[in-house]
Amino acid sequence: MPASPARDLLLLGALLLAGLLLGDVSGNAGAGLAGGVLVYLLISYRRMAKLQRWLADGPLERDPPVQGGMLGDVADRMQHTHARLQKQLEEADAAVLRLRESYAALKDGIVMLGPDNTIEWSNASALTLLGLRYPQDAGQPLGNLVRDPDFTAYLAASDFEHSFELEIGGSAARTLEVQATSFGANRKVIFIRDVTALNRLETMRRDFVANISHELRTPLTVIAGYVGTLQDLLPQDSPVIAKVLGQMQQQSVRMENLLRDLMLLSTLEGTESDDSSAEESIAVCAMLDSIRENALAACGGERQITLECAPGLRLRGPRLQIESIFANLVFNAVKYTGAGGKIRVVFEASGGHALFRVSDDGIGIDPVHIPRLTERFYRVDKSRSAESGGTGLGLAIVKHALKRVDGELQIESRPGAGSTFTCRFPLARLSGAAQG
Ligand code: ADP
Repeated sequence: MPASPARDLLLLGALLLAGLLLGDVSGNAGAGLAGGVLVYLLISYRRMAKLQRWLADGPLERDPPVQGGMLGDVADRMQHTHARLQKQLEEADAAVLRLRESYAALKDGIVMLGPDNTIEWSNASALTLLGLRYPQDAGQPLGNLVRDPDFTAYLAASDFEHSFELEIGGSAARTLEVQATSFGANRKVIFIRDVTALNRLETMRRDFVANISHELRTPLTVIAGYVGTLQDLLPQDSPVIAKVLGQMQQQSVRMENLLRDLMLLSTLEGTESDDSSAEESIAVCAMLDSIRENALAACGGERQITLECAPGLRLRGPRLQIESIFANLVFNAVKYTGAGGKIRVVFEASGGHALFRVSDDGIGIDPVHIPRLTERFYRVDKSRSAESGGTGLGLAIVKHALKRVDGELQIESRPGAGSTFTCRFPLARLSGAAQG
């Protein structure tokens, strides 16, 4: 079969020849040729009109009304392209359906938001958790239905690194963890998880630790008191008993420290504020100077501790918690640095932050441990830490106390080469000096 353009040319040639012959017979070859061209144009016009009707009326699955020639070829190609696109569309529809079915079956809530945070789609769990109706609420801004200004601000800010805790009031009060993610052009998907039971358990755990620490303090104080009395009454010639009482006294101090740290950590982990979270403007250098003196006394002056702090610097924050951050890091540097070790304590405004930095040339830390150091009771070397009187809670306290003042902790260390612990506080908390 000739190629499509060749077939059209053949038809045109045949019509011209027929016109020429007829013209020749009738004595007007020109009119014969013109007649041939006219017939060709009429045939082409009819074919195009059929093609146009076929395209306009659809469906394109019907056989094209025009076969052969260039127009027949165009119709075939259109039909094939249409069939291919149709198949892709069906596959995409099926994939979307499968995705929606699996989202719909999830226990966690999912809501798809369009521009202006309007609801496009929601699964059944999200409807129950947020009290929405679908499809009635489709097209409404989510902020109009979940009336919480902080939640509306969270959606508007488009900074979704952290999740948002949404408190739903009413008879069945619940806490929902909402995590939004942006995608496509101005769209978002939000995942909602009911964390009421989880939060309740966490509160119970925290209260239990705080209560038990509190309850244990009184008997411990009594025992430590009696140990002290016995030490005073002890005859000078009883070295064994003296050793036993000495160890009892040492261990009760350790236990007191542990209970103190556990109680402080429980307070820091809680959301409610107490007296210890009242903010004040702290004269940083004076506080650091006193911590330095205590640290030197604790190691019998066997470390060199240098302090660099521009006089007059003040940091706004809860005194007890800020002091706890500073003291824990300075005392750790003393604990994990041998006699003669050098410790540098710096407080300054730099790089858009207020920085507190403690560097030592002590034992250092293997990088594998660094991400876990702020976990409660995580220790690199258990025996060494216990020997030095550590509770294993120091860095956990530092982390939580920093969180309270929007600060963060950075740890750099190499085994054998020493460590640097840096706390960054927002510059807005600093006053009393040129801020660099
Ligand atoms: P601990 O009471 O055991 O010191 P921390 O929470 O303060 O508990 O510290 C956790 C662990 O981190 C320590 O046990 C120690 O292994 C390591 N560590 C903390 N500070 C330093 C430091 N300056 N140098 C080396 N290791 C350190």
